[in-house]
Amino acid sequence: LVASLEQVEQTYIMVKPDGVQRGLVGEIISRLERKGFKLTGLKLFQCHKELAEEHYKDLKTKSFYPTLIDYITSGPVVCMVWEGVGVVASARKLIGSTNPLQAEPGTIRGDLAVQTGRNVVHGSDSPENGKRETALWFKEGELCEWTPAQAPWLM
Ligand code: ADP
Ligand code: MG
Repeated sequence: LVASLEQVEQTYIMVKPDGVQRGLVGEIISRLERKGFKLTGLKLFQCHKELAEEHYKDLKTKSFYPTLIDYITSGPVVCMVWEGVGVVASARKLIGSTNPLQAEPGTIRGDLAVQTGRNVVHGSDSPENGKRETALWFKEGELCEWTPAQAPWLM
């Protein structure tokens, strides 16, 4: 039942400034935690402009890009790394569609958000980006690799 190492993915999840300010941090962490994924990184962080630009560099040509950078840097965010089998796609499912009006009820955005520009949470869109974004937002010593002491329920 123990997952092989190559099956275990890493995803970068971030509660955006609106999520922090609306008091949704616990709710969002709770949904990922109850699903059964493993938290390996967690911090409250004021993102600077350069980091926001690097994180969203693929969207540089979009008309909403400047607004997006202002949004992400407008207040502290909660940065997280979650690990598990299929965690990248699964977390995206739990998060729901980019536009909260299209996100299904039961998803984070479907339940807790209204506007695309204020959609409370980020999740990596591929295992490669999960690794890239984790390395971008966390220094090596900030991550914590751990194994459950009892049966490995989470894996
Ligand atoms: P996702 O976060 O679901 O992966 P994208 O990678 O397409 O979505 O976009 C990144 C973020 O940019 C979105 O979560 C949202 O905050 C913002 N965004 C995307 N499209 C728009 C838009 N049309 N207007 C305003 N903000 C947008
Ligand atoms: Mg994206």
